[in-house]
Amino acid sequence: MSDLSIDIKITKISESKISTVDFDNLTFGKIFTDHMFVCDYIDGTWQTPEIMPYQPLTIDPSARVFHYGQAVFEGMKAFKDENDQIWMFRPEDNFNRINKSSHRMAIPEFPKEFFFEGLTKLLHMEKDWIQKGKGNSLYIRPFVIATEAAISASPSNSYKFMIICSPAQSYYAGEVKVLFAEEFSRAADGGVGYAKAAGNYGAQFYPTSLAHAKGYQQIIWTDANTHEYLEEAGTMNIFFRVGDTLLTAPNNDRILDGITRKSVIQLAKDNGIEVEVRRVRVDEIKEAAKNGTLKEIFGAGTAAVINPIAGFEHAGDEFDLPKMEDSYASFFKQKLMDIQYNVSEDPHGWRFKV
Ligand code: PMP
Repeated sequence: MSDLSIDIKITKISESKISTVDFDNLTFGKIFTDHMFVCDYIDGTWQTPEIMPYQPLTIDPSARVFHYGQAVFEGMKAFKDENDQIWMFRPEDNFNRINKSSHRMAIPEFPKEFFFEGLTKLLHMEKDWIQKGKGNSLYIRPFVIATEAAISASPSNSYKFMIICSPAQSYYAGEVKVLFAEEFSRAADGGVGYAKAAGNYGAQFYPTSLAHAKGYQQIIWTDANTHEYLEEAGTMNIFFRVGDTLLTAPNNDRILDGITRKSVIQLAKDNGIEVEVRRVRVDEIKEAAKNGTLKEIFGAGTAAVINPIAGFEHAGDEFDLPKMEDSYASFFKQKLMDIQYNVSEDPHGWRFKV
């Protein structure tokens, strides 16, 4: 893909900062690579994209992103196999999703050629930042912000589409216990829950900090109307294993259409594991926990791939989940990572050669 058919203006840094990075002790999302991708939308057109040294932005204080949160983002990863080939996992789905998010936030959609050519060029420039070895990856954060200097409450006429990259190690969140939401909600019917809109995340910080204070790392959000149905976590979709059947909520306008989620559903089908995509009641999960049929709960998302949940609380009732020898969580994690790192076959064509 070095033969670019679109123009990208490239300015390289004079000296890489990579030698200052301790790749064995990375905190997620703190260190960024040498370059970033930037493309401005002005007067109704996306301008010539640029790759330039990673640096702070100068933005007018009246820019609408600061006042109205007109901003969307994505999260994806690049992996390196044993032969130094770089791969991504279903990146077209991230591309489609950022445009779906943009559409909901009245942000103009970004052209596909700009996205893929910019991304592949940037990844080739940053290839040394992608470390080999399972669990190592480059976390990629595409995002769009409304930059027009004007505080009237209406859509911006100018935007910045950017991609920044941060090296990541295998993500182990420790023992995760969760609270099932009873009071606060993440998303409402007709709202923006299905979009990766910046405000969806900021709005979770306060309720999540209350959960932390009670000793729970995350919240499993329930439907805003009744709080009776389990929906998703802050940055992960959620699966429940009752008996040997997997349960997960259907997508709707409150839930993010997760790429890991739909991959898990497909892998379950491929491997003869029964999956029910349907609304999951809080009560049925508590009942299953009481009668011993609830075997696992796990989250699925790009950052942690699969994140097993050790226990949960709802309405003062606390439950610990059993430790599983042959957990579905580790089965799916292994399957997904084998595809991502080019170790196994890829029958669904999910791997994307960079
Ligand atoms: N739900 C939410 C709210 C998220 O932010 C994410 C992370 N993108 C997910 C689920 C998981 O989605 P994916 O598997 O595409 O990373």
